[in-house]
Amino acid sequence: MKFANITWEGRPAVAVARPDGTLAVLPETVAGMTVRATDDVIAAWDLLRRPIADALDGSLPTVAADRATFAPAVRRPPKIFCIGLNYRKHAEETGSPIPEYPVVFSKYHNTLAAHRETVPLPEESRQVDYEAELAIVMGRPARRVSEADALGYVFGYTPANDVSARDLQFRSGQWLLGKSCDKFAPVGPFVVTADEVGNPNALEIQLRLNGEVRQASNTADMIFSCAQIIAYLSKFWTLEPGDLILTGTPSGVIQGFPPDRRVWLKPGDVAVVSIEKLGELETRFQ
Ligand code: ZN
Repeated sequence: MKFANITWEGRPAVAVARPDGTLAVLPETVAGMTVRATDDVIAAWDLLRRPIADALDGSLPTVAADRATFAPAVRRPPKIFCIGLNYRKHAEETGSPIPEYPVVFSKYHNTLAAHRETVPLPEESRQVDYEAELAIVMGRPARRVSEADALGYVFGYTPANDVSARDLQFRSGQWLLGKSCDKFAPVGPFVVTADEVGNPNALEIQLRLNGEVRQASNTADMIFSCAQIIAYLSKFWTLEPGDLILTGTPSGVIQGFPPDRRVWLKPGDVAVVSIEKLGELETRFQ
């Protein structure tokens, strides 16, 4: 199934994509459980899976996807992890060594943004960049899970844009500042359940800027696979339902251009992250 957070008649609601391109809006209560956000669905998926499928067979209000008001695909992820330099060509284009271990950093909730939401360019930066990324949405608590079992703890996957202010990112040794400005993590529009995705490391991933293809790769090119990333992170943290893990970006970011050819994001630019089986995440910068 494909789940989205939307605003429906003034309230937060969960919608499910139908094959005809419309969204079915779930009622606030399903099988006696509150369902106002994908977070609620993720937390009680084993109990809600069947009742939600039953509800979809009935008559639910619908809205056209292109007219829906989306919210971030997960509203309150307990943690937001990011993996840096996880595609060989991207590491090379930034002049960074190929990492021996996953490069782990984080973002906060203030960074979340929705599909078609406008992201403000910070006044303090002149070098804002895009990064198309596959994001893992965790489904069950995971602590010290094996690589072989890791994907069994995943709820689903969603497109993400790891927006990065390069001048702030490299102002000091810590990337946090340049990665965590308000709305620097658009995610969505849908969390697609793991059963519909299959192997998360066999997906075409692309970013278009104002219609021009800038990044085009496949998640098969990751240095550390989704399973390896989950197994690695779970050695140090208990991964929780709703945790987001952005798995790194392929080559083609603005930072990777020769210095005299870098044209940083400017007001009016539109970036679209497109991932096979997951859909397209559109972000306008202002
Ligand atoms: Zn990134």
